[in-house]
Amino acid sequence: MTDEYHCDVVVVGGSLIGSSAAMFLAQQGLSVCLLERRTTVSPHPRARGISVRTMELFRAAGIESDIRQAGEDDFQFVFGETLAGPHQPVARPDANAMSQLSPTTPYSCDQNRVEPILRRRAEALAAQIWNGSAAAAIERDSSGVSVLVETASPPDQASPPTPRRITAKYLVAADGADSPLRNSLGVGQHGRDVPGVGISALFDANLDGALRGRHVSALVSPRQVAILFPKGKAREYNWLGLVPREGLEAVEGSAIDAAAMSSIRRRRRPHHAALWRLRRKHRNCRCPQPRLEDSGRLSGRSA
Ligand SMILES: Cc1cc2nc3c(=O)[nH]c(=O)nc-3n(C[C@H](O)[C@H](O)[C@H](O)COP(=O)(O)OP(=O)(O)OC[C@H]3O[C@@H](n4cnc5c(N)ncnc54)[C@H](O)[C@@H]3O)c2cc1C
Repeated sequence: MTDEYHCDVVVVGGSLIGSSAAMFLAQQGLSVCLLERRTTVSPHPRARGISVRTMELFRAAGIESDIRQAGEDDFQFVFGETLAGPHQPVARPDANAMSQLSPTTPYSCDQNRVEPILRRRAEALAAQIWNGSAAAAIERDSSGVSVLVETASPPDQASPPTPRRITAKYLVAADGADSPLRNSLGVGQHGRDVPGVGISALFDANLDGALRGRHVSALVSPRQVAILFPKGKAREYNWLGLVPREGLEAVEGSAIDAAAMSSIRRRRRPHHAALWRLRRKHRNCRCPQPRLEDSGRLSGRSA
């Protein structure tokens, strides 16, 4: 560890928001450093659909072709209760009409594939990225902010040594929806908590028999409040996301795999399963369960 490092902006958290912020700020010529507590990207695909506006921004940042290579143009969403049963396709905007509005198009690319692209581009634009490094404490004064850095993992030989302290003019708190940093600065959230816990499970299984030649990029089950994404050209595993519900709060450790196995009705352990809890508040939602149409906007933290 070196002692101190100075930059214009320190970004805390290197997931989707932090990596994007680092890249876009570096693109503006600011000196940026990013601290990410994890040493690897979460394997869970999480957010997949990229809107046309985001694709425009990615295009301007020079990463559109990387995103297109890592993802796929696959928005075949259907409503249904089982993969083998009847499906009702979800209507899509008219591609021809959309092509009049923008030089690019919406696209599908999983968050765990987008994040490394954002970070690589941020680094190419001279941002400093320190993985396995957490912001342990922050102090503010009239000149900016000072961040005490804690390095949890052994130093990665390929990365530059992490400084013990970073001083910056500005700090971006991208440490998740329940951001302890944002809370410590008194920036709160309002609305209603979403109760319960969900499951995110990646699993290996051949679903061709159930699909019977039909192409489905996501099966949305309103009754089970769940989404199943069969594996595809740009995803190695099938992915089931159960939107948080009550009754799974006590599940932990190896029981997470068991709960996931029961959800996917398989005897084989999933490739990876994690619980997720919604940290974002619901505003003006009177329904007892989070609705599926809300799920694209829900924020969570998977292991
Ligand atoms: C199972 C699941 C499915 C989802 N599906 C969708 C979807 O279909 N569509 C959609 O739009 N969104 C989806 N989301 C939500 C989406 O993943 C989040 O909105 C997104 O990850 C938020 O990004 P973020 O960068 O704000 O926070 P997070 O992804 O929570 O990342 C916060 C990062 O900060 C790091 N960190 C925390 N504290 C510190 C610290 N002190 N120092 C350094 N680093 C720190 C953490 O390690 C983490 O990497 C899903 C989420 C989950 C869990």
